Formats: sequence, structure tokens, C-alpha cells
Amino acid sequence: MLIFTSLWHIFWLAFSNLCMWGIYHLEHPFFERYKINTMPWPWNENRQEWNILLKKSLKTCFFNSFVCVPLTLIGTLYSDNFVVAYDFSVENLPDWKTFAANITFCMLCEDVAFHFMHRFLHWKVIYPYIHKQHHQYITTISIAAEYSHPIDYVFGALIPGSLGGIILGRRMHFVTFLLWSLMRTSETLDGHCGYEFSWSPYRLIPFSTSAAYHDFHHSHNVGNYSSFFSFWDTLFAQNKDYYQFQEKTKELIEKLEKEKEAFNEQVNKKLQDDAPSKRATEELEETLKED
Ligand SMILES: [Zn+2]
Ligand SMILES: [Zn+2]
Repeated sequence: MLIFTSLWHIFWLAFSNLCMWGIYHLEHPFFERYKINTMPWPWNENRQEWNILLKKSLKTCFFNSFVCVPLTLIGTLYSDNFVVAYDFSVENLPDWKTFAANITFCMLCEDVAFHFMHRFLHWKVIYPYIHKQHHQYITTISIAAEYSHPIDYVFGALIPGSLGGIILGRRMHFVTFLLWSLMRTSETLDGHCGYEFSWSPYRLIPFSTSAAYHDFHHSHNVGNYSSFFSFWDTLFAQNKDYYQFQEKTKELIEKLEKEKEAFNEQVNKKLQDDAPSKRATEELEETLKED
């Protein structure tokens, strides 16, 4: 079960990252119009530095998946005398209502634990030693999603992600657990992919955060601590800087568009004003040629 869960996790992580790698290098306008910020991708900025960071990221993701995931699962089984609590029986496969209720419960548990643990990891006394590693990525790309210090990965990602399953125990089927882990991994990849896909299914979740929301957390290193929902950030005023930034960006774009419109109007007017004198010059040139 431990090896299967680790393989399940690394397979989905590798598959998603390969898909994103294709999208980044394709540079197709369909995807590029969703790019969150104007900064170049890290491999276009400094190839040498990127190769070093990529190697480090791959090693970290490998270690986290094959060491941290099984160890955390063993740890979560401690209270049950190391007996896996999930329901494995085929006849007890969940109906859609039980499945939806289990997933919603896991999302709510993960979100509250992730929010407070993430804020704790940003405490300046411990930040440089643990969470700073994840913030090496100033702009978000998919591989950054699981590039974090093992302590950060266990306490900031795996334990919050397992909390719902630990509480539910036998009331949760193993299939639900596998789909939940896939959903959580996809959510963090979506949040780190660097594109704000308006059609992402995660945007359908009420009070959902977004890829731009987490990208702001990386680029400004302030606020926006939540994963699935924005309400804990709103309740503790941790996303006001982000909304102010969004408002200012919107105002700036509107101002630039107005200036562009006014400039175009001026150019058109000038062209119209100059048209009669241009015609007169052309007529004079014609007359001189005839003479
Ligand atoms: Zn952070
Ligand atoms: Zn992040």
C-alpha cells in the first residue's frame, strides 16, 4: 500500500509536469494568453542557473515522494496500531454522495491546516531554514509545486492533506483516498503552473483561490497563504495586499488604454488635417509635369 501510494503520487506528478513542460515549450498563443506575469520563464532568463535549480528540484521531488510520503503514511497509521484504516472492499465502493461528502471534508480539513501551517512556516525565525527553499521560485512553474524542504513537505503539505482521511478512517474508501490525493496534487500543480486558466475546474469551487493568487504569494512573498479556499485569508486580512495590487493593475491598464485611444485619435485627426494640403501638393506636381 505504501509503495503503491508513492508510485501513484510520483506517476501523476511526473505525468503532469511532462504535460506542462510541453505547454511551456510549445509557446502556443492559446496557452500564452493565460500566462500570469510578463517575466520570462526561468530557462529563458539564465540557462545555467535554471539547470542547477532543475537538478535540485528533481532530486527533492524524488526524495519527498519516495521517503517523505511513505514515512508520513506510516506515521498516520500509528494511532491504529499500523493497520490501514481505509475501506478496501469492492462491494463498499462509495456512491457519488458519499464520495463528494468525503472529498469536501478532506478539502476543508486540508485548507484550514495548510493555511495555519503555511503562516507558521513564514514566521521569520524559522522561514530561512525551511520554507525559503520553496520560495526560491519567484515566478511559479509546475515543478515548484513540490519543491520544498522535507520538513515543509511533511508538515506543510502531507499532514494537512492526510488530515481528513485520518479523521474519516474506515468511513473513507481507499479509492476515495487515491482520488483525493490525485486531486490535491493537481490543485497544487494548477496553483503553481504560471497560467491562470479560466477553465480550470478548481475555479468552480466557491471562494476558490487561483493560480494568480498563489503566484502573488511567490512574487511578493506576502499574504495569500491558503490552498483551496480564500476565506481564511480574508478572515485574517491576509489577502488585502493582493486585492489592492489587482485593483491598481486594473486601473493602470484602463489608464494606458485611454492614453492609447487618445493618441490614436490625435494621429487620425492630424492625418485628416494634412490630407487637403497633401492633395494640393499632388495636384501642383501633376500640373508641373504636364507643363
Ligand atoms: Zn509560502
Ligand atoms: Zn508555492
